Amino acid sequence: MPSCFPVAPAPTPRESGLGWVLKLSEANFLSSPWLLFKLARIGQTGITSPAFQPSVFAPWTGFDSVTLGKLSYSNKKKGKLYCQFRKQEIRAGDLALRHPKICPQCIVERGTIDALWDINLVTTCPTHGRGLVDRCPHCGNLLSWFRPGVLICRCGAPLDSASGEERSPSVVDLHKKLEQIAFAKMSICNEQQVAVDLGPLRGASLLFLLRFILALGTYRIFGQARSQGSFDDGCSQVVATAAEILSDWPNAFHQLLSSLAKRPVYSNQTRTSVLSSLDDFMLSLYGSSNDTSQCHEVYLEIQRFLASDGYVDPRIARKLPEAEVEPRWVLRNF
Ligand SMILES: [Zn+2]
Ligand SMILES: [Zn+2]
Repeated sequence: MPSCFPVAPAPTPRESGLGWVLKLSEANFLSSPWLLFKLARIGQTGITSPAFQPSVFAPWTGFDSVTLGKLSYSNKKKGKLYCQFRKQEIRAGDLALRHPKICPQCIVERGTIDALWDINLVTTCPTHGRGLVDRCPHCGNLLSWFRPGVLICRCGAPLDSASGEERSPSVVDLHKKLEQIAFAKMSICNEQQVAVDLGPLRGASLLFLLRFILALGTYRIFGQARSQGSFDDGCSQVVATAAEILSDWPNAFHQLLSSLAKRPVYSNQTRTSVLSSLDDFMLSLYGSSNDTSQCHEVYLEIQRFLASDGYVDPRIARKLPEAEVEPRWVLRNF
């Protein structure tokens, strides 16, 4: 079949599938990608679903479906609850596809609408250290995929000079780690991406990391788990709180565990009751899926917390000589 849209931008490995469709639409002077989706018989809900397959555009663009399939988030084997971020499994709820957020500076420099920005908890550009832009500075509306160009709002205003606010070093550092883990299973990387020391997140899968950030942020702020959809500020506060805890690792983490363990009831508590008060937190980290890609460092730190606070299980003490060291954070003034 001859391709009706011969001006088709080659997808780069980090490209967002929806972003690529927007580029295709702009390259062919369409007023928005809507016509393309109509041609492919995809309705509004299908467009912003992780099940959307950019490969449906293969016949019209001259790219083969394998090349375009790499941009897809769909995970046919796992049904609706899970999806695929490049080569890693994440939860469908980890993606925010309804309203795009962008780093205009990255688009100007690299020309790519980064798949990383499609992740719910990604609020900041790891390269430029500024918050992602999700609203047009001119009309104030949330950005839409149905806009005339990658750097043009629906209202016609240019977005290339839009800029998010400068983020704290801890938030930027967390996003560098997120970026590294998100694209870890790919042979390519953005050349600007510098390998960072992952610290306690070494060995973490993207699925675990997203769950961990959410748990750290929500348990610190609300004392309990919250679902991602319940934040008005686009997760910024949750991510910033998690970033603070990670920047003072492991002290701030012990402090969080300590507050969850309902201190100070210290002297009378048995190890079992402390463990049960941490149950919910542990479940939100390790439970609710058949995911076995857990982060050993974090698990060990929880064990160190329990051991250093005097709830030493002899089995753990044998494995953890560090358990003998002074507690990193203990309330002793009562
Ligand atoms: Zn950027
Ligand atoms: Zn606008």
